[in-house]
Formats: sequence, C-alpha cells, structure tokens
Amino acid sequence: MKDLDAIRTHQSRKGAPGDTRSTSAANAGLVAMEGRGLPLLQFPHLAGQHGLQHAITTREGGVSRPPAQSFNLARKSGDDPAAVDENRRRLARALAPGRLVFLRQVHGNTVLSLAEPPAGERSPVAGTGDAFITDQSGLLLTILVADCQAVLLFDPRQRVVANIHSGWRGSIANVIGATVAAMARDFGCRPDDLLAGVGPSLGPCCAEFINYRNEIPTAFWHRRVSAHHFDFWAISHDQLTAAGLAAGHIALSRICTRCQSQRFFSYRAGHKVGRFAAVIGMCEDGRRK
Ligand SMILES: [Zn+2]
Repeated sequence: MKDLDAIRTHQSRKGAPGDTRSTSAANAGLVAMEGRGLPLLQFPHLAGQHGLQHAITTREGGVSRPPAQSFNLARKSGDDPAAVDENRRRLARALAPGRLVFLRQVHGNTVLSLAEPPAGERSPVAGTGDAFITDQSGLLLTILVADCQAVLLFDPRQRVVANIHSGWRGSIANVIGATVAAMARDFGCRPDDLLAGVGPSLGPCCAEFINYRNEIPTAFWHRRVSAHHFDFWAISHDQLTAAGLAAGHIALSRICTRCQSQRFFSYRAGHKVGRFAAVIGMCEDGRRK
C-alpha cells in the first residue's frame, strides 16, 4: 500500500457506536492497490469487508491510444473497440472471478435491481439507467465516468451492493436517494447499515456553472462555494445522510478529476472519449448464507 499525491484525508466524522472499522476507515481517502499489475484504488472501509471486491481505475495500465490513453473502458467513438475490450479484460482479470456488468447511463434517476444475472456472455449491459443494485455474487457492477461521481454502496448485513452514476443532473434528480430507497424496498436493506464511497469526480474547485440560475434548482444553491462553483461532493453527502446513512459510513475520495486529469479521465479537461470505472461486487464465496 503506498500513498498517492491524490489522496486527501476526509474530515473526521463520528461513526456508528461500536463500528470501529467503518468509523476509522471512512476518515481516509483512497488507497492504492494492484490487481495483477493493474494500478487500482480502493476505499479503505470497503476494502476491509469480507467477500466484497471493489476498485476505482485510473488512466494507467491499458492499451488505448490518444486521445483515450491508456485505460479507457468506454465503447465510445474515437477509440478502438479492440483496445476497449482488452482493457475490460484486464480489469476483469485484476478482480476476483466475476462478470463486469454495465449500464446505458443517461443522467437520470432510474435504478435497476438485478435479482439475477443479465443475459449476454461478455460485458453485458443490464439496461438503461444510472444506478443498479444486486445481491448476486459474481456480478461486478461497473459505472463509467469522466467528472461525474460514481457512488459505491454496500450493505454488509443483507450482502447487497449498488453502484450509482451521479453527475450534476443525477444530483439534481437525486439518483442517490432513489437508489437507497430501492435497496430498502427490493432487498430489505436498512440505510444505516450501508457503507458508501464517492469516487474521484469534479470537485468544488472545478464544478463551475456559469448558467446555474437556469440549470441548478435553488434548493442546491446553499452548496455554492463561490460565484459560480458548487460543491457536489457535499451535495452527495447531504443526499446520503438524508437517505438515512450514518455520516461515519460515508467516504468521499475528495479527488478532483479535472485537477488530476493526468491520472483520471476528465471531460472538462478535454477528454471527450475516455472513461474510467468504479466497480463493486461480491465474490462467489461471499454469497448470503
Ligand atoms: Zn478541481
């Protein structure tokens, strides 16, 4: 485990009584790991959970050529599909046995509950939406981003995982709240059991919205940090706690993709093609008994 210059320490927050693991871990940022030679990042409080695997990818370790160099995981025009497939193979190989599952992300608040694996042999798309949930081990829920937030959720009691794509439109639509509600409704999760991690994304330093008066509802204006900049990390934290999560169970990576665009794809930094990933899933031996 090595320190990253990107790591920022989360402000100290109190966790649930007696829950020392998540309390201490939620105070930390991301830590580096390697999966079969592939550089990956993890949230400490999720990395310590039995039977759970998760990872945040960077731009390193892949075969895509400019402008998507090198670890692009999105099948967007402008990158060689064979390179994307190879990158996806490397990611799957770096994690424990399992299938990467994707969404057609549309910046909304539709949540898909996967009670069984989706059809399709390789890199299946589960459907159109911006969050998915499963209690199936071996399914690696994958969200692709380049400035938007990926929000990972894990319920260690019910053994349920979720992954959310929340850009500013998703924040306004509260896809986070919709996902926590769906976890409770469809899988019996209690929000105060959930652990959350908010991945590298556009920080308050770079989330500039010149036309915010037309684009962002007034309910969010209290999270404006300067004339035109908003703190969407704080907005996600607000939405997670409003949904019932304990503040001590929430880890914000506090890594800005635009500021760290050498390490992460950033749409605002000019990466129109590349996307990095946040992945979460349960190992085959982590199935609920
Ligand atoms: Zn920034």
